[in-house]
Amino acid sequence: MQLTDLHWRAIQSLDKDMPVVFPVAALEQHGHHLPLFTDSLLLGEIIRRATERLGQRVLFAPLLWLGNSDHHLDFPGTLSAPPRAYLDVLGGLMENFIQHGFHRLVFINGHGGNDVPGRQAVFEVRQRHRERSDLLLLFATYWQLGAKPWEAEPRLEQRQMAHACEWETSMILRLAPQLVGALSPIEPVPLGNAFEPASRGWITKDRTAPGHIGDPRSATAEKGETLFRVFTDDVVALLDRVVGWDGKSWNA
Ligand SMILES: [Zn+2]
Repeated sequence: MQLTDLHWRAIQSLDKDMPVVFPVAALEQHGHHLPLFTDSLLLGEIIRRATERLGQRVLFAPLLWLGNSDHHLDFPGTLSAPPRAYLDVLGGLMENFIQHGFHRLVFINGHGGNDVPGRQAVFEVRQRHRERSDLLLLFATYWQLGAKPWEAEPRLEQRQMAHACEWETSMILRLAPQLVGALSPIEPVPLGNAFEPASRGWITKDRTAPGHIGDPRSATAEKGETLFRVFTDDVVALLDRVVGWDGKSWNA
């Protein structure tokens, strides 16, 4: 069910136990070979597939394409909501739907830079409504829901999400191959940092001159289809659990 298509009285009459999903992504540089809208295109496709499977059981807000991408601002074209502003936007969206009477609010995220402010936003809103016991506030990043896509597609070389990498390039090849630039001139950029497991403050140009992280050269549309399928399965499974929540328990 699409929020954008309904009249306000239809929203008013909905069962307020229906989960409300806010897809959140970004518009930021993705190296020499992928479009700026990569994260929003990929999450939009996962949400489109999930919507088909969830039918009338979940209410989907439109995708919020502006994310926290401050770390990419050295690369032209990137648009970013500064982290504190972004935190307030996400908190405001939750407050809007709490005011409208809904209890189960879920962010499905498609951009790494949204993860920290997103977790903070759900934490803060929960503290503000501490007298309530009927709220379920979740923030979930689609590739962090347990997927091991290499088990379904052994030709996948990458084992975690990177940036404009084998995974993202494969999915754009599946979705919009006309937007993918030449892969053969690209040099791989290693993941990770020498101080792991410490979390290091970074900007993208600390790690990569061209803008990508990982090795997109082995990307294929077939790998992209597997990735879309595995990630969509995880999102649908999470939202099924939200639908099935008993409305009060911590360990439901
Ligand atoms: Zn991306």
